[in-house]
Amino acid sequence: MLKLGSHCSMKAPDYLLGSVQEALSYGATALMVYTGAPQNSRRTALDKLNIEAAHKLMAENNIEKQDLIIHAPYLINLANTKKQATFDSGIELLQIEIQRSIGFGAKYMVLHPGAHVSAGVELGIESIVKGLDIVNQDNNELIIALETMAGKGTEIGRSFEEIAEIISKVKKPEMLGVCLDTCHIHDAGYDVSDFDQVLEEFDAIIGLDKLSVIHVNDSKNIKGAKKDRHANIGDGEIGFDILQYIVHHPKLAHLAKILETPYIDDKPPYKEEIIALKNI
Ligand code: FE
Ligand code: FE
Ligand code: ZN
Repeated sequence: MLKLGSHCSMKAPDYLLGSVQEALSYGATALMVYTGAPQNSRRTALDKLNIEAAHKLMAENNIEKQDLIIHAPYLINLANTKKQATFDSGIELLQIEIQRSIGFGAKYMVLHPGAHVSAGVELGIESIVKGLDIVNQDNNELIIALETMAGKGTEIGRSFEEIAEIISKVKKPEMLGVCLDTCHIHDAGYDVSDFDQVLEEFDAIIGLDKLSVIHVNDSKNIKGAKKDRHANIGDGEIGFDILQYIVHHPKLAHLAKILETPYIDDKPPYKEEIIALKNI
Protein backbone atom coordinates (compact mmCIF):
# COMPACT_ATOMS: atom_id res chain seq x y z
CA MET A 1 0.00 0.00 0.00
CA LEU A 2 1.18 3.50 -0.90
CA LYS A 3 2.06 5.45 2.26
CA LEU A 4 0.95 8.95 1.35
CA GLY A 5 -0.41 11.66 3.61
CA SER A 6 0.11 15.19 4.76
CA HIS A 7 0.81 17.43 7.62
CA CYS A 8 -2.27 17.45 9.90
CA SER A 9 -3.29 19.78 12.70
CA MET A 10 -3.57 18.70 16.33
CA LYS A 11 -5.91 20.78 18.42
CA ALA A 12 -8.37 20.71 21.32
CA PRO A 13 -10.58 18.93 22.12
CA ASP A 14 -9.81 15.84 20.05
CA TYR A 15 -6.06 16.28 19.63
CA LEU A 16 -4.35 13.25 18.02
CA LEU A 17 -7.68 11.51 17.37
CA GLY A 18 -8.71 14.62 15.43
CA SER A 19 -5.41 14.54 13.51
CA VAL A 20 -6.06 10.95 12.41
CA GLN A 21 -9.65 11.83 11.46
CA GLU A 22 -8.30 14.74 9.42
CA ALA A 23 -5.82 12.42 7.67
CA LEU A 24 -8.58 9.92 6.88
CA SER A 25 -10.73 12.72 5.43
CA TYR A 26 -7.95 13.26 2.88
CA GLY A 27 -7.76 9.55 2.06
CA ALA A 28 -4.28 9.52 3.60
CA THR A 29 -2.34 6.45 4.70
CA ALA A 30 0.28 8.44 6.68
CA LEU A 31 0.36 11.73 8.58
CA MET A 32 2.64 14.19 10.28
CA VAL A 33 1.91 16.36 13.31
CA TYR A 34 3.60 18.67 15.76
CA THR A 35 3.16 17.52 19.36
CA GLY A 36 2.33 21.15 20.23
CA ALA A 37 2.69 24.64 18.81
CA PRO A 38 5.97 24.70 16.83
CA GLN A 39 6.75 28.29 17.81
CA ASN A 40 6.54 27.85 21.60
CA SER A 41 7.21 25.25 24.27
CA ARG A 42 3.78 25.06 25.92
CA ARG A 43 2.60 21.45 25.73
CA THR A 44 -0.64 19.64 26.59
CA ALA A 45 -0.07 16.54 28.73
CA LEU A 46 0.11 13.27 26.80
CA ASP A 47 -2.84 11.73 28.68
CA LYS A 48 -5.14 14.44 27.30
CA LEU A 49 -4.28 13.80 23.64
CA ASN A 50 -6.49 10.73 22.91
CA ILE A 51 -3.45 8.77 21.80
CA GLU A 52 -4.98 5.34 22.39
CA ALA A 53 -8.15 6.21 20.49
CA ALA A 54 -6.01 7.63 17.69
CA HIS A 55 -3.96 4.40 17.49
CA LYS A 56 -7.15 2.36 17.38
CA LEU A 57 -8.53 4.44 14.51
CA MET A 58 -5.19 4.16 12.69
CA ALA A 59 -5.18 0.37 13.10
CA GLU A 60 -8.78 0.12 11.83
CA ASN A 61 -7.68 1.98 8.72
CA ASN A 62 -4.40 0.15 8.19
CA ILE A 63 -2.21 3.12 9.05
CA GLU A 64 0.94 1.81 10.67
CA LYS A 65 2.28 3.49 13.80
CA GLN A 66 5.58 4.19 12.09
CA ASP A 67 3.70 6.23 9.48
CA LEU A 68 2.65 8.71 12.14
CA ILE A 69 5.54 11.15 11.79
CA ILE A 70 6.39 13.85 14.31
CA HIS A 71 7.94 17.16 13.27
CA ALA A 72 10.09 18.82 15.94
CA PRO A 73 9.38 22.50 16.65
CA TYR A 74 11.33 24.79 14.34
CA LEU A 75 12.45 27.08 17.14
CA ILE A 76 15.03 24.46 18.10
CA ASN A 77 18.45 25.44 16.74
CA LEU A 78 21.20 23.09 17.84
CA ALA A 79 23.65 24.90 15.53
CA ASN A 80 23.52 28.18 17.41
CA THR A 81 26.95 28.74 18.97
CA LYS A 82 26.40 32.47 19.40
CA LYS A 83 23.68 32.33 22.03
CA GLN A 84 24.17 29.63 24.63
CA ALA A 85 20.58 30.14 25.84
CA THR A 86 19.19 29.19 22.41
CA PHE A 87 21.25 25.99 22.33
CA ASP A 88 20.27 25.13 25.93
CA SER A 89 16.54 25.75 25.49
CA GLY A 90 16.69 23.77 22.23
CA ILE A 91 18.15 20.78 24.07
CA GLU A 92 15.54 21.03 26.78
CA LEU A 93 12.64 21.21 24.33
CA LEU A 94 14.09 18.45 22.15
CA GLN A 95 14.34 16.14 25.16
CA ILE A 96 10.67 16.81 25.94
CA GLU A 97 9.73 16.26 22.27
CA ILE A 98 11.59 12.94 22.13
CA GLN A 99 9.67 11.67 25.16
CA ARG A 100 6.39 12.96 23.70
CA SER A 101 7.08 11.36 20.31
CA ILE A 102 7.74 8.03 22.02
CA GLY A 103 4.47 8.56 23.90
CA PHE A 104 2.78 9.09 20.52
CA GLY A 105 4.08 5.66 19.48
CA ALA A 106 6.12 7.28 16.71
CA LYS A 107 9.27 5.83 15.19
CA TYR A 108 10.51 8.98 13.44
CA MET A 109 10.80 12.62 14.44
CA VAL A 110 11.87 15.09 11.75
CA LEU A 111 14.32 17.75 12.90
CA HIS A 112 15.83 20.70 11.03
CA PRO A 113 19.58 20.34 11.66
CA GLY A 114 19.93 24.05 12.48
CA ALA A 115 21.34 27.35 11.26
CA HIS A 116 24.87 28.43 12.15
CA VAL A 117 23.86 32.12 12.38
CA SER A 118 27.10 33.22 10.64
CA ALA A 119 29.49 31.28 12.89
CA GLY A 120 30.29 29.03 9.92
CA VAL A 121 29.24 25.54 8.86
CA GLU A 122 31.98 23.68 10.73
CA LEU A 123 31.20 25.25 14.12
CA GLY A 124 27.50 24.74 13.42
CA ILE A 125 27.96 21.05 12.66
CA GLU A 126 30.09 20.58 15.77
CA SER A 127 27.32 22.15 17.84
CA ILE A 128 24.61 19.99 16.23
CA VAL A 129 26.67 16.87 16.95
CA LYS A 130 27.12 17.95 20.56
CA GLY A 131 23.38 18.58 20.92
CA LEU A 132 22.38 15.28 19.34
CA ASP A 133 24.81 13.41 21.59
CA ILE A 134 23.18 14.99 24.65
CA VAL A 135 19.58 14.22 23.67
CA ASN A 136 20.34 10.74 22.37
CA GLN A 137 22.27 9.66 25.44
CA ASP A 138 19.14 8.06 26.90
CA ASN A 139 17.24 7.62 23.66
CA ASN A 140 17.26 4.15 22.17
CA GLU A 141 13.80 4.24 20.63
CA LEU A 142 13.09 7.25 18.44
CA ILE A 143 14.91 7.89 15.18
CA ILE A 144 15.69 11.59 14.70
CA ALA A 145 15.39 12.22 10.97
CA LEU A 146 17.53 15.19 9.96
CA GLU A 147 15.76 17.12 7.23
CA THR A 148 17.55 18.13 4.04
CA MET A 149 17.35 21.92 3.89
CA ALA A 150 16.98 24.44 1.06
CA GLY A 151 20.05 26.41 2.13
CA LYS A 152 18.29 29.64 2.91
CA GLY A 153 20.18 31.94 5.27
CA THR A 154 22.76 29.97 7.22
CA GLU A 155 20.90 26.64 7.22
CA ILE A 156 22.96 23.49 7.65
CA GLY A 157 21.90 20.34 5.80
CA ARG A 158 21.93 21.88 2.30
CA SER A 159 23.90 18.96 0.95
CA PHE A 160 24.01 15.23 1.52
CA GLU A 161 27.63 15.74 2.57
CA GLU A 162 26.65 18.01 5.48
CA ILE A 163 24.05 15.52 6.71
CA ALA A 164 26.54 12.65 6.31
CA GLU A 165 29.12 14.57 8.32
CA ILE A 166 26.69 14.98 11.23
CA ILE A 167 25.74 11.28 11.13
CA SER A 168 29.37 10.19 10.99
CA LYS A 169 30.35 12.33 13.99
CA VAL A 170 27.64 11.50 16.54
CA LYS A 171 28.09 8.81 19.19
CA LYS A 172 24.88 7.00 18.22
CA PRO A 173 24.47 7.18 14.44
CA GLU A 174 21.94 4.36 14.70
CA MET A 175 19.47 6.84 16.25
CA LEU A 176 19.67 9.19 13.26
CA GLY A 177 17.85 9.07 9.94
CA VAL A 178 17.15 11.51 7.13
CA CYS A 179 14.01 13.25 5.90
CA LEU A 180 14.31 14.07 2.22
CA ASP A 181 12.25 17.15 1.26
CA THR A 182 11.78 17.43 -2.52
CA CYS A 183 11.33 21.23 -2.45
CA HIS A 184 14.37 21.68 -0.26
CA ILE A 185 16.77 19.53 -2.29
CA HIS A 186 15.56 21.21 -5.51
CA ASP A 187 16.12 24.64 -3.94
CA ALA A 188 19.52 23.45 -2.71
CA GLY A 189 20.50 22.67 -6.30
CA TYR A 190 19.79 18.94 -6.79
CA ASP A 191 18.22 18.01 -10.12
CA VAL A 192 15.14 16.10 -8.96
CA SER A 193 14.09 15.56 -12.59
CA ASP A 194 16.81 12.91 -12.57
CA PHE A 195 15.61 11.41 -9.32
CA ASP A 196 17.37 8.06 -9.75
CA GLN A 197 20.66 9.93 -9.96
CA VAL A 198 19.73 11.88 -6.78
CA LEU A 199 19.00 8.60 -4.98
CA GLU A 200 22.28 7.15 -6.21
CA GLU A 201 24.13 10.15 -4.84
CA PHE A 202 22.22 9.89 -1.57
CA ASP A 203 23.13 6.23 -1.33
CA ALA A 204 26.81 6.87 -2.03
CA ILE A 205 27.12 9.73 0.48
CA ILE A 206 24.64 8.89 3.27
CA GLY A 207 23.28 5.42 2.52
CA LEU A 208 19.71 4.66 1.45
CA ASP A 209 19.18 2.70 4.68
CA LYS A 210 19.22 6.06 6.49
CA LEU A 211 16.26 7.42 4.54
CA SER A 212 13.32 7.65 6.98
CA VAL A 213 10.70 10.10 5.68
CA ILE A 214 9.94 11.85 2.36
CA HIS A 215 8.44 15.36 2.26
CA VAL A 216 6.66 15.80 -1.06
CA ASN A 217 6.42 19.46 -2.06
CA ASP A 218 6.62 21.39 -5.29
CA SER A 219 8.76 24.55 -5.25
CA LYS A 220 7.89 28.13 -6.16
CA ASN A 221 11.48 28.75 -7.18
CA ILE A 222 14.00 27.48 -9.69
CA LYS A 223 16.57 24.80 -8.91
CA GLY A 224 19.31 26.17 -6.66
CA ALA A 225 17.31 29.25 -5.57
CA LYS A 226 17.89 28.49 -1.84
CA LYS A 227 14.47 29.93 -0.97
CA ASP A 228 12.28 27.20 0.60
CA ARG A 229 8.84 28.25 -0.61
CA HIS A 230 6.57 25.27 -1.09
CA ALA A 231 4.17 25.16 -4.04
CA ASN A 232 1.14 22.95 -4.58
CA ILE A 233 1.79 19.70 -6.44
CA GLY A 234 2.12 20.49 -10.16
CA ASP A 235 2.06 24.26 -9.65
CA GLY A 236 5.78 24.71 -9.13
CA GLU A 237 9.15 24.34 -10.77
CA ILE A 238 9.42 20.60 -10.06
CA GLY A 239 6.12 19.66 -11.65
CA PHE A 240 3.56 16.91 -11.26
CA ASP A 241 5.21 14.10 -13.23
CA ILE A 242 8.45 14.12 -11.25
CA LEU A 243 6.68 14.29 -7.90
CA GLN A 244 4.41 11.42 -8.91
CA TYR A 245 7.45 9.42 -10.01
CA ILE A 246 9.05 10.03 -6.60
CA VAL A 247 5.89 9.08 -4.68
CA HIS A 248 5.71 5.75 -6.52
CA HIS A 249 9.44 5.02 -6.51
CA PRO A 250 9.97 1.36 -5.54
CA LYS A 251 13.03 2.20 -3.41
CA LEU A 252 10.85 4.48 -1.27
CA ALA A 253 7.85 2.16 -1.02
CA HIS A 254 8.41 1.44 2.69
CA LEU A 255 8.57 5.14 3.65
CA ALA A 256 5.84 7.62 4.54
CA LYS A 257 5.50 10.46 2.02
CA ILE A 258 4.15 13.64 3.56
CA LEU A 259 2.72 16.67 1.73
CA GLU A 260 3.47 20.09 3.21
CA THR A 261 1.97 22.11 0.39
CA PRO A 262 0.21 25.43 1.07
CA TYR A 263 -3.50 25.83 1.72
CA ILE A 264 -5.54 27.20 -1.17
CA ASP A 265 -8.15 29.84 -0.17
CA ASP A 266 -7.76 28.75 3.46
CA LYS A 267 -8.56 25.16 2.53
CA PRO A 268 -6.21 22.17 2.71
CA PRO A 269 -5.34 20.88 -0.78
CA TYR A 270 -4.40 17.43 0.47
CA LYS A 271 -7.42 15.35 -0.54
CA GLU A 272 -7.12 16.46 -4.16
CA GLU A 273 -3.34 16.21 -4.21
CA ILE A 274 -3.42 12.68 -2.76
CA ILE A 275 -6.00 11.55 -5.33
CA ALA A 276 -3.97 13.06 -8.17
CA LEU A 277 -0.66 11.55 -7.02
CA LYS A 278 -2.16 8.15 -6.25
CA ASN A 279 -3.66 7.47 -9.66
CA ILE A 280 -1.16 6.61 -12.35
FE1 FE B 1 10.57 20.70 8.02
FE1 FE C 1 9.79 19.61 4.89
ZN1 ZN D 1 10.29 23.82 3.60
